[in-house]
Amino acid sequence: MIVHEASRTEPGRRGADRHGPARPLALYTEGIMILLKGSDTHTALVDLVSLMAQSFPLSAPAVYVVTRGRQARAFSTLDPLDAGQADAMRVLGKAPWSYERVIAAGQAPLAPERVDIELVGGEKARVILSVNAGNHVDIFLEWAKYLTAAIAKILDNEMLQDMAFTDGLTGLLNYRAFMGILNAECERARRYDTTFSLMMLDIDHFKLINDTFGHPAGDRILVALAERLQGRLRKSDLVFRYGGEEFMAILPQTGMYKAAFLAERIRTFVERMRTEDGMSVTVSIGVSQYHRDLSPGDLIRQVDAGLYLAKGKGRNRVEIYAAR
Ligand code: GH3
Ligand code: MG
Ligand code: MG
Repeated sequence: MIVHEASRTEPGRRGADRHGPARPLALYTEGIMILLKGSDTHTALVDLVSLMAQSFPLSAPAVYVVTRGRQARAFSTLDPLDAGQADAMRVLGKAPWSYERVIAAGQAPLAPERVDIELVGGEKARVILSVNAGNHVDIFLEWAKYLTAAIAKILDNEMLQDMAFTDGLTGLLNYRAFMGILNAECERARRYDTTFSLMMLDIDHFKLINDTFGHPAGDRILVALAERLQGRLRKSDLVFRYGGEEFMAILPQTGMYKAAFLAERIRTFVERMRTEDGMSVTVSIGVSQYHRDLSPGDLIRQVDAGLYLAKGKGRNRVEIYAAR
């Protein structure tokens, strides 16, 4: 690890100026190796910023990452409470971002002048390296040229992974994510002897909406509904697009009566909801609760049976299904 290597070296003595031209090249390759060695984006950027700070202790580096569909991220060697937050705010603005303080030897305070170097610039992702002004800037500028491709690559991987688990139309987690998280939630409930409930929601007569107003109008309803569903539930509850016009919600630590209460709240909310073009829909919802004899597959069958009951009883209603 970089941290160990650097702590054997005196901070301030690793600067390229003291080691001749061979040293910067070694740093550039070291930086690229960090990015390509297969760790996740977070670890890679922490290691990279740490390498930069240890190599140039006066530079006080920070890397700011803005990727579409994700909260922006700051990886910074600056003190988070004043200097660090202020610099992150300067680059990232007011929209929410997370702050990761990178601890490195020889930390420097924020200089009056900062130099921003764009490592990746584009519509999908923007990565900015920010350092104190000083003699080291030329080396960082050169460094940046070597890093750009490697950073773009790890961000691409990250975005591909995100895409594999999110639904392209609504941005919700998709079927694949649902199956993974449901399995994990069953495991967790069994191990810690807790419970959770499942909610399955299906738009009523959606085919009719498509036939009457067209498929794009149907899509707009799906997007509007997806957006509002998460807002109607608690922070700990997860909402998924399970299929075409079917949504699932996993409600941790929640029994079926509480889940049915939440489902009813959603049902009435949807009934009153109007899209921008004035359309409305109703939904039927099935509810079911985990208990330790149920496999993920059993649980899905149960909640589906609840939904089927709600449809059978006339739609626009909530039904609990509890087999045992
Ligand atoms: P029910 O009340 O019994 O659920 O009736 P329904 O018409 O909603 O059910 P059905 O399963 O017969 O039809 C589902 C419809 O959902 C058919 C399909 O065209 C539509 N649908 C599925 N995915 C999408 C999508 O991504 N966009 C749009 N616009 N429509 C979709
Ligand atoms: Mg359906
Ligand atoms: Mg339907």
